[in-house]
Amino acid sequence: MQMKYVQTTCPYCGTGCSFNLVVENNRVTGIAPYQRTPVNQGKLCPKGIYAHEFVNHPDRLKSPLIKKNGKFVEASWDEAYDLITKKFKQYKPDECACLSSARCSNEENYAMMKFARGVLKTRHVDHCARLCHASTVAGLASTFGSGAMTNSIGDISQSKCCFIIGSNTFEQHPLIGRQLVLAKKNGAKIIYADPRLTPTGKQADLYLQFRSGSDVAIFNGLMQEILKNGWEDKEFIKNRTKDFDKLKEEVMKPEYSLDNVSKISGIPAAKLRTAAEWIGKAESACILYSMGITQHTTGVDNVRSVANIQMLTGNLGRPGTGVNALRGQNNVQGACDMGALPVVFTGYQKVIDEAAYKKFADAWGFPDGISAPQNGYEVTVMMDVLADKPGELKCMYIMGENPMLSDPDLHHVEKALKNLGFLIVQDIFMTETAEFADVVLPACCYAEKDGTQTSTERRVQMWRKAQEPPGNSKLDWVIIKEIASRMGYAKQFPWNSAEDIFTEIAKVTPSYAGMNYTRLNRPEALHWPCPAPDHAGTPILHKEKFAHPDGLGQFFGVPYKPPAEVPDTEYPFVLTTGRCLWQWHTGTMTRRSENLEEEEPTGWIEINPEDAKALGIKDKEKILAVTRRGKVEVPARVTPDIMKGVMFMPFHYKECAANTLTNNALDPIAKIPEFKACAVKVQKIAEAK
Ligand code: SF4
Repeated sequence: MQMKYVQTTCPYCGTGCSFNLVVENNRVTGIAPYQRTPVNQGKLCPKGIYAHEFVNHPDRLKSPLIKKNGKFVEASWDEAYDLITKKFKQYKPDECACLSSARCSNEENYAMMKFARGVLKTRHVDHCARLCHASTVAGLASTFGSGAMTNSIGDISQSKCCFIIGSNTFEQHPLIGRQLVLAKKNGAKIIYADPRLTPTGKQADLYLQFRSGSDVAIFNGLMQEILKNGWEDKEFIKNRTKDFDKLKEEVMKPEYSLDNVSKISGIPAAKLRTAAEWIGKAESACILYSMGITQHTTGVDNVRSVANIQMLTGNLGRPGTGVNALRGQNNVQGACDMGALPVVFTGYQKVIDEAAYKKFADAWGFPDGISAPQNGYEVTVMMDVLADKPGELKCMYIMGENPMLSDPDLHHVEKALKNLGFLIVQDIFMTETAEFADVVLPACCYAEKDGTQTSTERRVQMWRKAQEPPGNSKLDWVIIKEIASRMGYAKQFPWNSAEDIFTEIAKVTPSYAGMNYTRLNRPEALHWPCPAPDHAGTPILHKEKFAHPDGLGQFFGVPYKPPAEVPDTEYPFVLTTGRCLWQWHTGTMTRRSENLEEEEPTGWIEINPEDAKALGIKDKEKILAVTRRGKVEVPARVTPDIMKGVMFMPFHYKECAANTLTNNALDPIAKIPEFKACAVKVQKIAEAK
């Protein structure tokens, strides 16, 4: 038997742990630790430990499929490409839209972005960052000039006060959770704010249980208390920031007194006071947040509030400080960096910026030009346009995304997808979205490809090919290149390897300019920005100045606004959604992983015991959860860990899909939906019938 270890990077969360794929007789059969990486030092969470299990699952797509008379039939690549190119040529540029993928590599996201803008010439390209951290990208770009996690993962253990809000770090980014344990061992105080007392909260020194959607009020209250006590960092405010007066004017309003914030949020005023004191007086304080902050109609406001408190207390640009936005999927940071967004090219170079536009048009050399220098539609807006303005968008090319389970208000998404004239889905398994496709293209998974992905801490790390792909499946970038060639653009897609694509990325992307595969091919890899071949990378951002042209951090006065839909007599509870330790997003990979699926094989709704008693609902009883958008049957999980008046559902499960219920009201800037708060009622099934 031939056996080898191939070191690669985890395909699940944005932490970016490394491990070895165990390969026996050219087939991936297991995972073994890889100790040399500074990210996880050989340790893994359950998803990482079992990340080999889906790779050779019998459900893998092995051949292109074309829908004929409502049924998929296997087709050759030539047949699939002929149909696709014929269809693409029928549509005008802005009748087409592309969805790129946070699961795919940087190289593949770059290829898709270039294909959308250069081949289809459409402005409408986006990906699922819209659903998780679009608020971070927009919020931090406006405050700091750069929309990414400011510090590095290892740095968290050096903090003296860690404030975690809207992130169940121990379950969703377990190897970042490890840094919190180390920080606590080093004497840090841990503050945890969330409507659910999660395993992360159980390790905290101070737990703030709050009503989902009251984040801005909480931050304003904390900042008022810090200012009243003189705990702000006056030097930092004076030298490094602007518009402090605007912040002060807002947060000093009487409505943000701790007593009033307590009424809005449900957190006792004494606990808020303690939190303000710990943050205000700490030698170094960091904030960790995730989708609990971003997935709101006030997502950008929430992120600006996080930035405000860190600038107010001078907790930026030093070890143990920072705004640590924990990105969800393995390469959601990279997909954003690669410009798989409707407003930017790579490295956040704006499409509407004349110089940036010219730079890309010239560098790519499409003889008939590229998409117009205007912003395109976000994925959430694409769905609205498809559902409500039939005929405006007609054709969609989706790579590695599953909006039929991941997007809010699934009936709305279904209506949108049914209004498409032509849909291509490229994935490794048949997904809920692929069922709606006209053509399904079989792609390769992480274990079958070389490439890079950029973790939440901006660390660009490598995937390494460990086995051949199954059947006739192909690499995502090869599929894109082959379609582009058939559309007459072979010259613009000259690549023969992922490395060739990365070389092109580095040429057009200042923050990646100093990187190449030789430099990345080492355990510590490189953090962007890395602007030159002799630059060591940047683990901590904003050390001396912020990324705005004047170098100053921008304060915003942020008024508190409630969620778009609040409880009323008909729908008296708040529904919030999220993930669990054992499953991942729409379950495409984890539900085909025996050991993970066994742990949490179906969904549930968490209900506080007092609410359950009042409703006559027992633990494990199947009940009906109903919102203005739909209803699902789901088992109840009665637990004191959820706040009274609030309910929680994981969104992984198609048989009780939480997103049938969620609200697609959007943040006005980031266009991110409000997954984290809508009004819900629950009924006993017998009574509902
Ligand atoms: Fe993979 Fe994230 Fe777990 Fe690390 S913490 S093993 S990156 S899922």
